[in-house]
Amino acid sequence: MQLTITGYSTALFSTWYFIEELGLLLDCGDGLMAGLLQKSRKITHAFLTHPDRDHLTGLLQFNQLNARAGFPIIYYPKDCGSIRALELFSKQFDPHVSGTVWNPIIDREKVWIRKDIYVQAIKNSHVTCTPDVNKSLGYKVVQVRQKLKPEYLHLPPLEIKKMIESVGKENAYWEQETILLAYSGDSPVENFDQWEGAKVLIHEATFIGADQDTASIPHANRHSILEQVLEAVSKIRVENLVLGHFSSRYSDSQIDEAIRSGCQKFGLTIPVRRVLPGRMVKNVLDESCGIQ
Ligand SMILES: [Zn+2]
Repeated sequence: MQLTITGYSTALFSTWYFIEELGLLLDCGDGLMAGLLQKSRKITHAFLTHPDRDHLTGLLQFNQLNARAGFPIIYYPKDCGSIRALELFSKQFDPHVSGTVWNPIIDREKVWIRKDIYVQAIKNSHVTCTPDVNKSLGYKVVQVRQKLKPEYLHLPPLEIKKMIESVGKENAYWEQETILLAYSGDSPVENFDQWEGAKVLIHEATFIGADQDTASIPHANRHSILEQVLEAVSKIRVENLVLGHFSSRYSDSQIDEAIRSGCQKFGLTIPVRRVLPGRMVKNVLDESCGIQ
C-alpha cells in the first residue's frame, strides 16, 4: 500500500505524522493545523504516544476545527493524567467539541481503524514506570489479509466455492499480517524484534552522538542515539526507515553526515529518509527526503 506521510518532528518543540491514506495521525504537536490546513479534516483516528508537551499541544485546535459526532477518535496511554486534563479542559473551553471521542489504551491493545487494518499499542520505556502503568507507547499499523490455504490453491474457482461451503471460511483461509507502518514514539533503542518486517519504520533519533551531547540532557525521559538505531535496524528486516525527533542543537549537515557514516558502518542499504529539525516534510517517503 502506498503511504503518503506528512510530518514535523523536532525534539522538545513538536512532533506529528499524518498518514493520508489511512486518515491516521500519530502524535499531535504544535503546528499540526498550520501545516495541514484543510487536510486535517481527513484525520479520523489520532494516536498519542505520551504526554510530553511537544507531542500534544496541537490537540486543542485540531479538535476545535475537526470535532463532529463520533470523530475524531483520540487514543492515548491510559495513565496519562495530563491528557485526561486536556480532554476536560477542551470540553469546557470549546463545548462544541463534545463529538470527539477520547479513548485510553494500554500495552498490546489493538484498535481496528478499518475492516482490514488495526493499530496496536506497544509500551516503551521512555517514561520510567511500573509494568502495569501505561505512560508511553509506540504503535504498529498492521494489515490483515485473508489468504487461501496452500492446499486449495490449485482448485478452479467453482471448486473453491464448494470447498468453502463444505469446510467453512475459517478453515479455508489463513491470515497474513503485514506491518504497514511502525512508529517508535519517544523511546530508547529497545525490542527491535517487534518491528521485524515493517514496510516503514519511523524511529526517533534525538541524539547523533556528537560532542555537544555531553551537555546536560534537559529531563530524565529516555531517548535514542542515532548510531544505536541504525545498528538495531541493520539486524532486522525493514523496508524503509524514517528518522526524526532530532535535537535542534545539530545542523542539517551534521545530521546527514552522521546518518551516512552510520549506514556505512552497519551496512544499511535500505532507503533512509529523515525529518530535519524545524521543517515540515510533505511526503516523507519521497526520494528527495532521503539520504539513500
Ligand atoms: Zn518528544
